[in-house]
Amino acid sequence: MKRDTRIIHAGSHPERWNGAVNPPVWRASTIVSPSIAAQRDLNGPNRFANVTYGRHGTPTSKAFEEAVAELEGGSHCIAVGSGLAAITATLTGLLKTGDHLLMTDGCYGPTRYFCDKSLTRFGIETTYYDPRIGGDIASLIRPNTKVVFVESPSSGTFEIQDIPAIAAAAHAAGAVVVADNTWGLGTFMPFEHGVDVSLQAATKYIVGHSDAMLGTITVNNADLYATVRGSVALFGFSAGSEEVWLGLRGLRTVSVRLRQQFDSGLKVARWLESRPEVLKVWHPALPSHPDHALWQRDFTGGCSLFSFELPPMARERLEAMVDGYHLFRLGYSWGGFESLAVVTSDEYVRTATGKSGNPIVRLHVGLEDPDDLIADLEQGFARLKETP
Ligand SMILES: *Cc1c(COP(=O)(O)O)cnc(C)c1O
Repeated sequence: MKRDTRIIHAGSHPERWNGAVNPPVWRASTIVSPSIAAQRDLNGPNRFANVTYGRHGTPTSKAFEEAVAELEGGSHCIAVGSGLAAITATLTGLLKTGDHLLMTDGCYGPTRYFCDKSLTRFGIETTYYDPRIGGDIASLIRPNTKVVFVESPSSGTFEIQDIPAIAAAAHAAGAVVVADNTWGLGTFMPFEHGVDVSLQAATKYIVGHSDAMLGTITVNNADLYATVRGSVALFGFSAGSEEVWLGLRGLRTVSVRLRQQFDSGLKVARWLESRPEVLKVWHPALPSHPDHALWQRDFTGGCSLFSFELPPMARERLEAMVDGYHLFRLGYSWGGFESLAVVTSDEYVRTATGKSGNPIVRLHVGLEDPDDLIADLEQGFARLKETP
């Protein structure tokens, strides 16, 4: 069956819930057993498949994990309380003192802060690499390099990474490839391209309604699952029942939302590209993007997060343009039903392509009619013109 079909039914077990299509929100910390022997069985080798204690998951989170594993094309998934928790739990589970991490320069800002401020305290060194390095990453791999982290496209200027080439070099050196696949949800199949651990800020498109924080870690083999699940358990990362339930609800409609938002986003991006005010539109699905060919090779679509670059200008002019948007509200998140804009800073955009220092406006296109969004942006350019 096609993935769209599988996503609708994955993790759905009406026979367990008196025929209800969706599982209930299980509110549980304590799980009791009828005997010591039964308790011992529960905590045996199948510990993480059983429901043993609220922190390790409930039938609601297990249904959600089953469905996300299907969406990402992996064998096992672990739900945690946020996207950042998925990143930190995975890195701390795979790395130890003396290890070396290769991190893309295009990573999500807080991922960088975690490496610089937290991993360093445990004696784990990070080297940042150009996201467009491809197979040349081999020259940066050291004997103690245990993880190569990819995020494609980059936050900011949306460089696409040659993940198959990077993964081949990493695997030749025995390193694990971890991907932040939030942008590529459903359109970049991580395990078909050499990724070993795929992370989602489920807060974004999976939840899809801007009302819950959630993260997922998906793997495609039992050993990695045991390692990362063990780390998640020991750090006490867990996801709330209400949140996983909202995640499961959002996931059922994610394919159709993604397609709609991708199409609307491209319409807006093409319109921006036609505007004289705009220096560059950073969207990998546009033929003008430097990595368009790689996107075409490895992705079957995309989402609705991209950016555009403007020439240097006085802060007041940029503020007049952006502060006056009605439909694009100012917010750091994305993946919800509503459109958002944010002006990214140099601190966020670190890659060679993004180092121009020019203002870059990142847009998330929601489910509004794209013509209305274009009108909102057009009024912004009018304000820009009127502001000296
Ligand atoms: C938002 C985001 C995260 C973090 O997710 P939270 O749920 O906010 O912790 C991680 N990676 C990317 C690419 C993101 O956009």
